[in-house]
Amino acid sequence: MGTSAGQRLTDIAKMNAGLFGGTFNPIHNGHLGIIQYVKAHYAFDTIILYPSALPPHKPNLNLASARDRLTMVKSAVKNLDGFQVSDIELQREGPSFTIDTISQFKTIYGRHTRFHLLLGSDAFFDTPSWKQARHIFGALPVIVMQRGEKTGMAPFASFIDEHVSKGYKLKNDNIFVHDRLFPIRICNVPRIDISSTQIRNRIKSGKSISGLVPDDVETFIRIKDLYK
Ligand code: ATP
Repeated sequence: MGTSAGQRLTDIAKMNAGLFGGTFNPIHNGHLGIIQYVKAHYAFDTIILYPSALPPHKPNLNLASARDRLTMVKSAVKNLDGFQVSDIELQREGPSFTIDTISQFKTIYGRHTRFHLLLGSDAFFDTPSWKQARHIFGALPVIVMQRGEKTGMAPFASFIDEHVSKGYKLKNDNIFVHDRLFPIRICNVPRIDISSTQIRNRIKSGKSISGLVPDDVETFIRIKDLYK
């Protein structure tokens, strides 16, 4: 399909933004390490973090209020360049479905912004249980950040073939391309073995979380007496 010079100029002027959602219960240095790596690696103008208000896939966890999680995310990135925090999922009623969030971001900023969705590999492999998951890959490019053991491309190739769509082909070692859907890039981020579960468990058993979360987040958790 041809594009006019005007369209191309608009494209060039568009901002490149990564969308990074999560429960962030709480946000931790693993999140911060991988998003700083991805921002530099893919030259994003900005990465927008959006806490999930009611995570549909994480019931029964010791969930801090959405407001408190939002506050912690804001304080975690306040001194980092090029990161923004959105309360888009806190403004909606009901469970926070990613497909709805993507459509909303595109409606609000789409004329000026080219979005990529950032997913940890555990979240990516969980997508078959998400609402209209396959539509996500028709809506925007996805970057999957490997979490834990590095596995090579084989598990991604078979998962994509079975659960996303037939017709994806591996290009340049780590990009799956399709003639109708958006690319899925597998990004070999530095391994950082921190999880929110580990942090909540440490707090419950009276252990220090120093070095696992930013200092301001640690202070907020202590003052608010979260995760006890
Ligand atoms: P929990 O332990 O409560 O399940 P979590 O540490 O996985 O939480 P989330 O807020 O659910 O944190 O994560 C948001 C996103 O960040 C997900 O896509 C997840 O895969 C990714 N992620 C979280 N921690 C890491 C990490 N250490 N390395 C790579 N990706 C991560």
